Amino acid sequence: MSVLDLARPEIRALQPYSSARTEASGGSILLNANESPWSAEQAAARGFNRYPDPQPPELIARLAALYEVGTDRVLVARGSDECIDLLVRAFCRAGRDAVAISSPTFGMYAVSAQVQGAAIVDVPLAPDFSYDADALVTRIDDSVKIVFVCTPNNPTGNLVPIATIEHLTRTLANRALVVVDEAYIEFADAPSAIGLLDSHDNLVVLRTLSKAHALAGARVGSLIAHRDIVALLRKILPAYPLPTSCIAAALAALSPEALATTRRRIAALVEGRDRLATILRSIPTIIDVFPSSANFVLVRCASADSLYRRLLDRGVVVRNVSRQTALSDCLRISVGTEDEIESLHAVLSAREAAA
Ligand SMILES: *Cc1c(COP(=O)(O)O)cnc(C)c1O
Repeated sequence: MSVLDLARPEIRALQPYSSARTEASGGSILLNANESPWSAEQAAARGFNRYPDPQPPELIARLAALYEVGTDRVLVARGSDECIDLLVRAFCRAGRDAVAISSPTFGMYAVSAQVQGAAIVDVPLAPDFSYDADALVTRIDDSVKIVFVCTPNNPTGNLVPIATIEHLTRTLANRALVVVDEAYIEFADAPSAIGLLDSHDNLVVLRTLSKAHALAGARVGSLIAHRDIVALLRKILPAYPLPTSCIAAALAALSPEALATTRRRIAALVEGRDRLATILRSIPTIIDVFPSSANFVLVRCASADSLYRRLLDRGVVVRNVSRQTALSDCLRISVGTEDEIESLHAVLSAREAAA
């Protein structure tokens, strides 16, 4: 059996759009794409008269090197968000198929499923936010095509052990894709699930330049999987997903010097996270500070709404996640610079003094 047997038959049969950029090979007089022959004169727009390469080979090569996989296993799209959407569209038939999630988790899985008309099977995390793979497996029937596993999980911050991911992927072989979203793995002291790809064709790993690589505005995410899955998704990828300027920004962020800076910043954020957690634990109206392997910390407080408003009044914006199931009175706080952590500390201490 091929892992593509899980995909929508109509997508497997789809004849994809063939863009001018895809069909062209070599040549220097480009009269094939109805582009303007003149570049704009303004520096910021120079070179934009040409369509970008849909999957720029140099970018794919650098991402493959970064993630230590072959280039045929990498698909690059507009953030992990678009990778999630492509997966749901390629594998879930509207009104028939489903995705599985474990709430509380990242909201885009459910949104993409709803847009596609796929059902959502929610197998919540345990009360301590640990991932319950056994409970999940009992809920998988033929309709579930994709299981989303977020590690470290947003917004709870905890890791799903790699052994759990391997067990889940093996158990669901020939039944469902296991999509491991590693948006924050750079901040965790844990191996990537990429190391399991060779032995599991139903495993998909999502990585992004948005968080650790400081490139959220460029929208560059990677999907790493069996080459057949990459080839299938390329069929439904928009013709020119990445703008020229974003490709350039990503290449710059993947230079050896930039990667060295990124490594230092990751270390600084991990230290900042520990310092932030210590500060938060010292605040009496914060009841719980959950352990985090990401660049944010989840807390439970006496009243999330009032602390949220109090912080906002002093110019500090955190994420109020208290409306999500199992997260009553919880706030998610990103790790900022040392100065930003100190500012937050000052506001929190002032609040305690005033209370
Ligand atoms: C931020 C985030 C993403 C989105 O990443 P983009 O590459 O910016 O689209 C994906 N998954 C999780 C869990 C996130 O928190």
